[in-house]
Amino acid sequence: MARYVGSVCRMCRREGLKLFLKGERCFSEKCAFDRRPYAPGQHGQARAKQSDYREQLREKQKVKRIYGLLERQFRLFFSRAERMRGVTGENLLSLLERRLDSTVFRLGLAASRIEARQLVRHNHFTVNGKKVNIPSYLVKAGDEIEVKERSRKVAKISSAMEASDRRGRVTWLELDKKAFKGVVKGLPVREELTLPINEQLIVELYSK
Ligand code: SF4
Repeated sequence: MARYVGSVCRMCRREGLKLFLKGERCFSEKCAFDRRPYAPGQHGQARAKQSDYREQLREKQKVKRIYGLLERQFRLFFSRAERMRGVTGENLLSLLERRLDSTVFRLGLAASRIEARQLVRHNHFTVNGKKVNIPSYLVKAGDEIEVKERSRKVAKISSAMEASDRRGRVTWLELDKKAFKGVVKGLPVREELTLPINEQLIVELYSK
C-alpha cells in the first residue's frame, strides 16, 4: 500500500494547525509548527487567495492527513459513509475513528496514529483473540483489542501507555492497563472529536 513518506511536520504547517502526528514531540519545544507557524516553502508566508473551493479542499486535506490516508483510501471511506444512514460527514468521521490504527492510538497504546499503524502491521495486537494486522480494519461495539503477550514489553507500547493519561481518553473506549486490553464500548461520538474539523465542507467538495 502506498504511503506518504515526506516530512509530516510540513503537513501541520500547511494546514495551519497542530495535527499531532508525531506523538510526544508534538508537546515539546521541538514542534516545527510552534517554531514556524506558517506554510512551508518559498511562498509560505505569502497571503493565500481565499475561495470556497480552497476552504473545502484544505478541510479534506486536513482530515486525510490526521488519519494518514491517501486520496484513494479516503475516497473509499467517503463512499461508504454516503451509503450509510444518517449525516454523511459524521458517518465519515465515525468510520475513520473506527479504523484499528486510530482505535489503538485512542486507547493510548501508541503515541500517534502513524506509530499505531506500524505496530498493527507488525502483528502486536489481536481483536477478539484473533490476529489482525490490517490498519484499516473497522472495530465495532463489543470488540476487544489486546496487546499480544510477547509484545507487552515493546518500548513504544509501554511508553505510549505511560504518556496516555496526559492525553485523556474517549468515552467509547475503555482500557484495562494491567491486562493490556481495550474494549470498544460503543461507536465514536462526534462531540468528542476535539480537533477543529468542519466535515460538511468535505461533503460539499465531493458533491461537486
Ligand atoms: Fe505537527 Fe507534531 Fe510536527 Fe508539531 S511536532 S508540527 S504538532 S507533527
